[in-house]
Amino acid sequence: MQFPSQNLYSALRAAFPADLDQTAVYASACDGRPLNYSWRDLDRASACIANLLLSLDLPEGSRVAVQVEKSVEALLLYLATLRCGFIFLPLNTAYQQAEIDYFIGDATPAVVVCTPEHFGWVSKIAFKAGTRHVFTLGQERNGSLLERAAHCSDAHTPVRRTKDDLACILYTSGTTGRSKGAMLTHGNLLSNALVLKDYWGWRTPEQGGDVLIHALPIYHAHGLFVGVHGALINGSPMIWFNRFDARAVIAAMPRASVFMGVPTLYVRMLAEPALTREAAAHMRLFISGSAPLLVDTFAAWQQRTGHTILERYGMSETVMLCSNPYARDVRHGGQGERRGGTVGFPLPGVELRVVDDAGAALPAGEIGAIQVRGPNVFKGYWHMPEKTAQEFAEGGWFKTGDVGQQDARGYVTIVGRGKDLIISGGFNVYPAEVESWINEMPGVAESAVVGVPHADFGEVGVAVVVPRAGAKPDPEAIIARLRDTLAHFKVPRRCFVASELPRNSMGKVQKNLLREQYRELFLKA
Ligand code: AMP
Repeated sequence: MQFPSQNLYSALRAAFPADLDQTAVYASACDGRPLNYSWRDLDRASACIANLLLSLDLPEGSRVAVQVEKSVEALLLYLATLRCGFIFLPLNTAYQQAEIDYFIGDATPAVVVCTPEHFGWVSKIAFKAGTRHVFTLGQERNGSLLERAAHCSDAHTPVRRTKDDLACILYTSGTTGRSKGAMLTHGNLLSNALVLKDYWGWRTPEQGGDVLIHALPIYHAHGLFVGVHGALINGSPMIWFNRFDARAVIAAMPRASVFMGVPTLYVRMLAEPALTREAAAHMRLFISGSAPLLVDTFAAWQQRTGHTILERYGMSETVMLCSNPYARDVRHGGQGERRGGTVGFPLPGVELRVVDDAGAALPAGEIGAIQVRGPNVFKGYWHMPEKTAQEFAEGGWFKTGDVGQQDARGYVTIVGRGKDLIISGGFNVYPAEVESWINEMPGVAESAVVGVPHADFGEVGVAVVVPRAGAKPDPEAIIARLRDTLAHFKVPRRCFVASELPRNSMGKVQKNLLREQYRELFLKA
């Protein structure tokens, strides 16, 4: 597809349906009233905000940092930033003052947009860091950003950009160490959106069209890039939820065809009796990612709804990397099976290899570090040239930090994060392997295994187990069963029962918190 400029907005705009008065976003106001936006509304309102940003006379490459609650207006601000060729920097609404201080100090944005409630402390931090403009944006279409934008023209031509120009900086979720700003270009985002358009068989309006249920946050790659770009590049409307509500999402399914969620959202919907085969009958595709989907959840969803969840794998630095097939994949002998517990094949255009500690490529089936290459791979970490250089191997391969394998059929399985690997007495223990055995045991809903310091072994495993409703699994019995099944160096030294695992807002288990919690366990004399 040829676009007049590589500005991502131009490409998205080119896909809008011819009839701009059709609905693009079905949303609701805070009091529940329906609030719909046409394609023309998206174009004009984002033009007003773009003109406001341009009137500020900001330098080229300015960053626009945004920490607001999810709303359609926050999406318009994103589109406006793209139109102007500035760099969008979304921030999780859960971040507190010390974190915002770090992000604003690091990224030195020219513009900061925050909620009206947080204006006092956010503006103080921003002005101290040299930011010249702080606007507010509330969830009820209130705040200074829209007040000012309302006075601006609704006509705007997107600024020309090349594919290598920056579009966004996403700070990595930072479940370990300091969060790093991943710099993504217009080309990274557009190439990925176009690949997914084909690979997931999005239906254009002429083919009957798709409707996406958008219930994810938009400060993260999943909701912003996979969700929003997926719908817009296909001219597909979205049913928009500012926050996830299992019942409301199930009730929207008869009007929709595609849903994207993190595994936790699937678990929550399965807890609702309203989730039935009939409720999901109109849907075409359920997609899961951002964290591993338990095989149990995959199977339960299939049984309850008749749909096979399509699991995919990606990260802030690379957007989407792998996906289970939607249809038969001719690159892999026409295989079309979505396999639970795997993340499928590398997407077209993405090269993936599994390497050993010395960086040599491993044969199929062997576990090692996952490296990738392709037009989707980011430009580097903001202001961290050395860190960036360390994360790339010779030949431009990006070290994902994930450990996994690719089997002879081409399916990739993620075994865990490299940093989660436990080295006990010199032996490698992959937590995912141990967790999968524990998860099979009666009474266990899920588990997490982490390494903690140990004087003799360097590290040993500790398991945290979440029981199924009404069950009381016995930690001693779990350890005893593992000892019958696995090499002893893999068996956790201790097992604890907890009501839930600590998770971040994208559903990822925060193993760093568990490691911290149990750090002293074997160090005490
Ligand atoms: P983020 O940059 O916050 O999107 O986090 C990316 C990380 O999430 C990846 O490096 C993986 O460790 C993990 N991840 C994403 N999708 C999956 C998946 N389907 N299965 C397992 N881990 C995943």
